[in-house]
Amino acid sequence: MNIDSAPSVQQITVLGSTGSIGVSTLDVVARHPDRFSLYALTANTRVDLILAQIKTYQPRYAVMRDEQCAEQLSQQLKAAGITTTEVMAGEQGLVAVAGADVVDTVMAAIVGSAGLVPTMAAVEAGKKVLLANKESLVMAGHLLMQAVERSGATLLPIDSEHNAIFQCMPARYQTGENLGLAAEGVRKILLTGSGGPFRQVPLDQLAAMTPDQACAHPNWDMGRKISVDSATMMNKGLELIEACWLFDTGPENIDIVVHPQSVIHSMVEYNDGSVLAQLGNPDMRTPIAHALAFPQRIASGVASLDIIATARLDFEAPDYQRFPCLRLATEAIKTGASAMAVLNAANEIAVQAFLDKRIRFTDIPVIIEHVLMAMPVIEPSTLELVQRQNFEARQLAATFIEGDLKVAG
Ligand code: NAD
Ligand code: MG
Repeated sequence: MNIDSAPSVQQITVLGSTGSIGVSTLDVVARHPDRFSLYALTANTRVDLILAQIKTYQPRYAVMRDEQCAEQLSQQLKAAGITTTEVMAGEQGLVAVAGADVVDTVMAAIVGSAGLVPTMAAVEAGKKVLLANKESLVMAGHLLMQAVERSGATLLPIDSEHNAIFQCMPARYQTGENLGLAAEGVRKILLTGSGGPFRQVPLDQLAAMTPDQACAHPNWDMGRKISVDSATMMNKGLELIEACWLFDTGPENIDIVVHPQSVIHSMVEYNDGSVLAQLGNPDMRTPIAHALAFPQRIASGVASLDIIATARLDFEAPDYQRFPCLRLATEAIKTGASAMAVLNAANEIAVQAFLDKRIRFTDIPVIIEHVLMAMPVIEPSTLELVQRQNFEARQLAATFIEGDLKVAG
């Protein structure tokens, strides 16, 4: 029998199974019981949803980041007579299921800096890591990429743009035998973004935009943090940093292109003038299925792209006046490693404050810039230093919000 037709069953841990990416991952996994088995599911506080997922998927472990929620989940499993799933708690539990010997593949889909330590644990254990948690690369790209080298982990991008870029890369690049982008004939990367829900809102109305308006993305259905990041275009800034680390290149080789339809998910230009693009409906199950089965292809449940109905594809240059977060992210790359971690930390606090209606939409870049100016630039050579930098930047952002911006809105 051809070995390709008889894949062994992959044991999978889904970090962040109750989120938007987590739920899409379970949907794809459930379509292929012959290929995938769920070893562990994890969540922060959503006991109701993870309980339903346990009933459906019967993982060996469930981890709740929050200790009290872990206790509640244990009681509810007991009450339901479920003894096949063991409950663990806290970051320790996340690290244990990310690095467990029997696990082949880890979907890193926790949102924000909380994903860094478990994602690093999966990388250090040499797993096939499907990376949705872009914040961990933004915070500690140098350490994560070094750990990939050391452990022999396989890092596959889930972010739709980076997954598209990966798919458009030369075959040798995909198998890790490449000599670098220039030697492989790649001239530049075209990183596309929709421009979010506020692309055409008059500038003088931006300050009045609400969290619900920011989260109503025209094309993608996502968690609230990344939805706000899309509205400020900080998401594209974080993705620029993510692309630099993943594809070992600099921002001078990456053009950000606004493409409102989100049909092209990104492009790669070669030095003979060829531009390769990956297209598809805006549904995260495509990159998830691609990475789960790589280098094979499996069904994802995503409908065929109706190119006739799509009819037109538009492109524009990004508007740096409307989206100051894009400038801040680009400057942070130039400043160096700790600036990227600080950018990410201040953004997380600012976005949460906006979602909690404590600041206005237009305060988000003001807070980030304030924190970037106030924090020292260091070379964070260990995970502990990155975490300390993260902690201090978050505190500074919170103090600034409480002091100077309290009456805003
Ligand atoms: P989400 O808010 O829908 O889900 C987040 C998940 O992380 C949940 O399972 C939640 O329980 C868990 N979580 C939250 N805080 C936690 C903590 N402190 N400790 C442990 N677990 C915690 O987010 P999402 O939209 O699924 O995004 C997840 C990641 O994927 C983000 O990094 C995002 O940038 C990235 N991403 C998402 C999309 C998308 O379409 N949703 C696309 C590209 C990249
Ligand atoms: Mg993306």
